[in-house]
Amino acid sequence: MRHAILNGCKRIVVKVGSHVVAAQTTGLNVQALKRVAKNVLEAKASGYEVVMVSSGAIVSGIKKLGLTSRSTSLPLKQAAAAVGQGHLIRAYDHAFEGAGQQVAQILLTNDDMMDRERFLNARHTITTLLKLGVIPIVNENDTVSVDEIKFGDNDTLAGMVANLIDAQLLIILSDVDGLFSEDPRHNPKASLIPTVHKVTPEIQKLATGTASVEGTGGMASKVEAAKRMSASGVPTVIINGKRAGSMSDVLAGKEVGTVFLAQKVRRTSRKHWIAFIRRTKGQLTLDDGAAKAVLQHGKSLLPAGVTSIDGEFDHGDAVSCTDRKGREIARGLVNYSSSALAQVKGLKTGAIKQVLGYKDYDEVIHRDNMVIM
Ligand code: GLU
Repeated sequence: MRHAILNGCKRIVVKVGSHVVAAQTTGLNVQALKRVAKNVLEAKASGYEVVMVSSGAIVSGIKKLGLTSRSTSLPLKQAAAAVGQGHLIRAYDHAFEGAGQQVAQILLTNDDMMDRERFLNARHTITTLLKLGVIPIVNENDTVSVDEIKFGDNDTLAGMVANLIDAQLLIILSDVDGLFSEDPRHNPKASLIPTVHKVTPEIQKLATGTASVEGTGGMASKVEAAKRMSASGVPTVIINGKRAGSMSDVLAGKEVGTVFLAQKVRRTSRKHWIAFIRRTKGQLTLDDGAAKAVLQHGKSLLPAGVTSIDGEFDHGDAVSCTDRKGREIARGLVNYSSSALAQVKGLKTGAIKQVLGYKDYDEVIHRDNMVIM
């Protein structure tokens, strides 16, 4: 089973949690960072291309600035990140330089992922770095990320990066051994779940309420990231990054941590982007005929099939399509704004020009821009 996830695997994203490489009281843990670097170098020596997503900037900055708690205001956290990020990347640089390995710093915001052009630009840069043999180290650009532009946690970011570069495996280094049947910190009898075939609501429930002090996400965001990866055909392994050798064990096919298996359907990177990365701005309700045409016959969505519209959106925004019972069946990029669509919903395609005075597209959402959920 474990060997199977390595079949055809060449490109890996390794996510390093804050508490794997830093602690609020002591700041960056250089030894831990060196251990991670060693593991990454071993993976690279075995032929894998590795992109790292590392947290630790805020915790490190808090320590350096002599601040006491992470629960400081957002501007203080951002200031701490600005101080800590330099420190973090310098420490990685040192950790890798003994082996003659170059690293690169990449700071991304959610906006970079939402915009298809910037998304592709980031992809070109990262793949070019990989071609040059450099190890890219990504973090959120915390300094400019507030409220809705924040990824929220680096688990989500790591999932997006994996999608960005078409990675075949996501390895999340945590400070626990994986996903447990109960919170291991509260129940010593909790058992490690070695394999998750599908992320069900029950699995997600196991992960709630386990957020830690140093990281923002805890297990819930890891499981959420694993769920998205699985839906796009990429497995995720959560392992204890504090344990030496756990990453090499994964790459040797040994049963460590929790593996979240990939679902069979493999979406293209662009479709995954539409489904999971682009934030939806509105919702369209489809009548039964349109829902069937979209779901079972792979058709585009026409105005005639839209019964109601929620939210305000522009041409090119992502929207969610639901059936009459409110179940989400698809997501896609719309060809008409919410106000234009409000005028043509329920009408035959031929009537679009008559009503709007123009007809740029026959479809509300073209099949190529639509993903079945
Ligand atoms: N970007 C944050 C940092 O480097 C970490 C966010 C997270 O903990 O997931 O400190």
